[in-house]
Amino acid sequence: MPQDRICFFDTTLRDGEQSPGCSMTHHEKLALANALADLGVDILEAGFAIASDGDFAAISAVAQEVRGPKIASLARARQEDIERAAKAVERAERPRIHVFLASSDIHLEYKLKISRAEALEQAAKMVALAKTYVDDVEFSPEDSTRTEPEFLCQFVGAAISAGATTINLPDTVGYATPEDYAGMFRNILEKVPGADRVILSTHCHDDLGLAVANTLAAIHAGARQVECTINGIGERAGNAALEEIAAAIRVRADRFPYECNLKLEKLYPVSQQLAGTISFGAAPNKAVVGANAFAHEAGIHQHGILSNPLTYEIMTPVSVGVPANRMVLGKHSGRTALRSRLHELGYRLSAADLDIAYRAFTELADRKKAIYDQDLINLVAHHQRHEDLISTEPAVN
Ligand code: MN
Repeated sequence: MPQDRICFFDTTLRDGEQSPGCSMTHHEKLALANALADLGVDILEAGFAIASDGDFAAISAVAQEVRGPKIASLARARQEDIERAAKAVERAERPRIHVFLASSDIHLEYKLKISRAEALEQAAKMVALAKTYVDDVEFSPEDSTRTEPEFLCQFVGAAISAGATTINLPDTVGYATPEDYAGMFRNILEKVPGADRVILSTHCHDDLGLAVANTLAAIHAGARQVECTINGIGERAGNAALEEIAAAIRVRADRFPYECNLKLEKLYPVSQQLAGTISFGAAPNKAVVGANAFAHEAGIHQHGILSNPLTYEIMTPVSVGVPANRMVLGKHSGRTALRSRLHELGYRLSAADLDIAYRAFTELADRKKAIYDQDLINLVAHHQRHEDLISTEPAVN
């Protein structure tokens, strides 16, 4: 595994799908899985095979039909889970079983009611069992970030000895800071024999809004797989957003000199497809794919963008698949933006007419939160009818 490559592990169909408002039908999962393969994700976690017959069927269908990514099923560290996961991914070109077992004392004591020694033995045994079905076994100590560091090292060491090829260290509850999270990866690499021969993976939740920052910090500390979801959907506040990690690595290649397999121009279309599938879309101010991510309303910004997009944009909308610059006209907009939009709509105004149109526009903008193209067309048409302006001629493009 080259050290200069970041693998994207998408869990939209598993961690994402299991969160409120995000359930998907069999057909929808398959359609999204195909879109994720086109986007270029390296590993696609298609579900949690033992969770339901529906989940099992969806993973099997994805494994059978979707080509490109490795196809994974989640499994608790239990024999019946692993057998079910193995069955679900058996038709995949490159199947993976993702085994997890909690490692923090609070989970061991209150949820699993087993000792650390029992957990160690169970982890090793179940990784070895998964290994009898597939070569590619990922192991996650659930709640890694709240696990006592020495015990986490033992736990990871046991999983590697039993044959795990990827070790994922999840911040299950979204508690870590970037410094903590990077430190945990450094500690594992330093102290666990064999850790440098497996892929270390991130899995961050956004309870403190730090999921992407934690993910990026771990990359600096040696992680080479990132687990994430489209639009950042997932348990509670969600997972690290795939599109944000991807854009950060691309835009800040000076800090993150890594290759990845993603086609960034597919980010927006996939985000839209997910939004159309589940019960909510990305927030308007969501980075990279939100409706306002490339919108400019303030006059000074609009003037700058029209002169040179680099004045206020660090990436082009087109580079992440957003069709065009979205200049939003509102009460903060200036004359330049209005003229530009009217031009796009086919109106060419003299300077005097533009003044009249601009006055009418600002009056309207005081009453309305946003001005749409149709409002501008109505505005020009109204003044033409009342003959107080506006002599337009069709724009020639
Ligand atoms: Mn999770």
